[in-house]
Amino acid sequence: PPGVGEVPVPTVFAEMTALAIATGAVNLGQGFPDEDPPAEVLAAAHEAISAGANQYAPGRGVPTLLSAIADHQRRFYGIGLDPEREVLVTAGATEALAATILALVASPDDEVVVFEPYYDAYAACVALAGATLVPVPLRFPDFQPDLDELARAVTDRTRLIIVNDPHNPTGAVFSPEVRAEIVRLAERHDAWIVTDEVYEHLVFDGPHVPIATLPGAAERTVSISSGGKTFQATGWKVGWVTGPADLVDAVLAVKQFLTYTNATPFQHAVAAGLRLPDDYFTGIAATLRAKRDLLADGLRHAGYTVSPAAGTYFTVADASHRLSPGQDAADFCRALPARVGVAAIPLTAFASAAHRSEYASLVRFAACKRVEVIAEAAARLSRG
Ligand code: PMP
Ligand code: GLN
Repeated sequence: PPGVGEVPVPTVFAEMTALAIATGAVNLGQGFPDEDPPAEVLAAAHEAISAGANQYAPGRGVPTLLSAIADHQRRFYGIGLDPEREVLVTAGATEALAATILALVASPDDEVVVFEPYYDAYAACVALAGATLVPVPLRFPDFQPDLDELARAVTDRTRLIIVNDPHNPTGAVFSPEVRAEIVRLAERHDAWIVTDEVYEHLVFDGPHVPIATLPGAAERTVSISSGGKTFQATGWKVGWVTGPADLVDAVLAVKQFLTYTNATPFQHAVAAGLRLPDDYFTGIAATLRAKRDLLADGLRHAGYTVSPAAGTYFTVADASHRLSPGQDAADFCRALPARVGVAAIPLTAFASAAHRSEYASLVRFAACKRVEVIAEAAARLSRG
């Protein structure tokens, strides 16, 4: 097929989860929680099914979810949106990203700036769109971009700058200077900003600052999020796009031929989640922060050098002391489930071929697991 080039099948997440299942390893690889969504949200899904919300939803999403998303953006960020024109429901953030990228870029002359290491879907969708990826490096341990390197990457050929803040896989939260520079460059070179904020409620020293709230940003920004992380429901695949009506319409034009509409009862359930009181949202960040600390302490105890995560499910650690001669993080992570009983993800999976060697000793561990599971993984890692 055209343009799939370097895109691996299966993805690294599927590969490492399969290895974890086959070996019985503790899975700190793929980022999914091992606990259920909150009771109110589960109940809302059951109620929607029982009440007959089981046929096609409207293409943009069920109205109650569209208004819950708009109300959420106003409650947390002061962003005002017309729920009928500036909000679109998608099959997870994944479909939002695919539809946005396919809508906004089309040829090798269209450049898409991403921060490397990057979530795998960005490079895959840019390849499927036939556009050109321009990576800006983030370096261990603080993973903030160098502003000069960023400025050199953005040119008049840049159509999109894809921002992921808080950032998977590194756990970084971009500094105010970085966010401001992204907006300045986008304005100067007339580029769109696509911002993936699926970890918006998992910031440890909050509050989260959406890039769309910066002066000059809103009119050129497509914001993407999802209920997966916020409601511990990664299998429900309810995501959304918000932004100017003409951009949302462009994304809808693609989205309607990717999935047409998305699972109706789960839209009702995520709407109920978005209306939970503030303390639900502060609570999930505080819980995950304690798990991050437990994981980081365990990794340090096992001799890893740890990058302190400011948000997300993830913590990155340098595994140099555990690598055999000639082994990189990908080899290490393929062997780890059978050897030590823990699954993790190599950072090389989030880098382009030209830059993979810069991440050769770095490994991503997920903290979104029960405390006893993290403790068991830490004990196993300290033994090997
Ligand atoms: N973006 C990032 C940065 C992610 O980490 C993930 C998934 N975990 C997604 C997008 C996809 O989200 P969803 O499951 O809602 O499709
Ligand atoms: N986003 C999750 C992670 O980074 C996994 C999603 C997936 O399996 N594609 O681990």
